[in-house]
Amino acid sequence: MADEIISEADIDAAEAAIAGTASGTPLIPSPFLTGATGGDVFLKLESMQPIGSFKLRGATNAIARLPKDAPGVVCASTGNHGRGIAFAAARAGVRAVICMSQIVPETKVAAIEALGAEVHRFGETSDDAEDEAVRLAKVQGLTRISAFDDKAVIAGQATVGREILAGCPDVARILVPLSGGGLAGGLARAVKAQRPEVEIIGVSMDRGASMHLSLAAGGPVDVEEEITLADALGGSIGLENRFSFEMCRRYLDGSLLVSEAQIYHALQVLFYEDRLIAEGACATVIAALMGTALPPAKGKTVAVISGRNIDSRRMAAIVAGEDIALGDMTLKGRAYDPAPPV
Ligand SMILES: *Cc1c(COP(=O)(O)O)cnc(C)c1O
Repeated sequence: MADEIISEADIDAAEAAIAGTASGTPLIPSPFLTGATGGDVFLKLESMQPIGSFKLRGATNAIARLPKDAPGVVCASTGNHGRGIAFAAARAGVRAVICMSQIVPETKVAAIEALGAEVHRFGETSDDAEDEAVRLAKVQGLTRISAFDDKAVIAGQATVGREILAGCPDVARILVPLSGGGLAGGLARAVKAQRPEVEIIGVSMDRGASMHLSLAAGGPVDVEEEITLADALGGSIGLENRFSFEMCRRYLDGSLLVSEAQIYHALQVLFYEDRLIAEGACATVIAALMGTALPPAKGKTVAVISGRNIDSRRMAAIVAGEDIALGDMTLKGRAYDPAPPV
C-alpha cells in the first residue's frame, strides 16, 4: 500500500529500537471487571513502564531515528511525552528541551527535570506549549518530536498492539485512551494488520475531546482545552494534523466519551478492586467498561492502562472519596461503591 503512513517494517524497526527498554509490560486478568462486565477483561499495564507510561515506546523510537549530528530535540508535553523524551534522550546522550504549559501538574515537571532535560514553562494551554516548541525548533535548530503526530512516535506506540496480540491472541475488543491518537492509531494499525476483525475503540473525557470531535466532523477541529482528571488527554490534535487523525479515521471502530464522575469512580475501581494506581487518562477505558454506552463484548477485552503518573495527593483524595477541584468546577466526592455513578 503506497499510502499506509506506517508500514509493518516501520513497526518491526520500532520493536527492535525499544527492545529491553520499553517493551514487555504485563498483561493481567481483572477478575473484578470480568465479573462486573460479563466478559473476560485483561489489563495491559503500560503503567509499569520505567517512566510510568507507554510514551517511552514512541520517544525511544524517535530518538533512535535521529540523524547522528542532530544538536538536540524539543517537544511540547502534558507530562508523559516529555518524560519519555527526557529518559530516551538522556540514555542516548542527546540534549532535550521540554515545553510545558501552566496546566501541567508540578509532579510531572519535577520528574522531567530529574531526568536531566531542560523544562521550559510556557503559556496557559498545551497548544501554547506546542507553538513554543515549533519556535524553539526553528531558532535553535532542534528536532521537534510531536507527542502523537510523528511517524516514529506512532510506530513506537504501535508496538503495544503487537504485544497485546502476542499475549492475548484471541482478543475481541481493545479499549484505548484517545487524545492525539498516536497510541490508538498506531496500536490499531498494528492489530488490524494481523486481526482485522478485532474491534478497537478510543475513549476520551467529555471535556475537550479533540480527536473524538474531529472524527465526528470528518477532519481536524479545534477545541478549547478544559481542566480534567484525564490531564494527559488534554490539548488539540492540531488543524495541521498530518498522520494521527488519518490513522484513527482509518483504523478505529469507534470513539466514546466518559464524564469526570465516571473517571473518578474508575480510579477508585482500579485501586480498590485491582490494587492498581493509574492516572485519569487511562481510567477513561475502565469508565467506558463500567458504563452503559458499550454493548457487551463478544469475547476477550483488553483495556490499555496507559499510565500511572497521577499526583499522589490527588490519588489519596480520590481513594478517600473527597471532592476534587478542577479549575472552576468542583467534582463531588463519593465514597467507593462498586456500582458506577449514574
Ligand atoms: C499521551 C497519553 C495518552 C494518549 O495518547 P495519544 O497518543 O495522545 O492519543 C493516554 N494516556 C496517557 C497516560 C498518556 O500519557
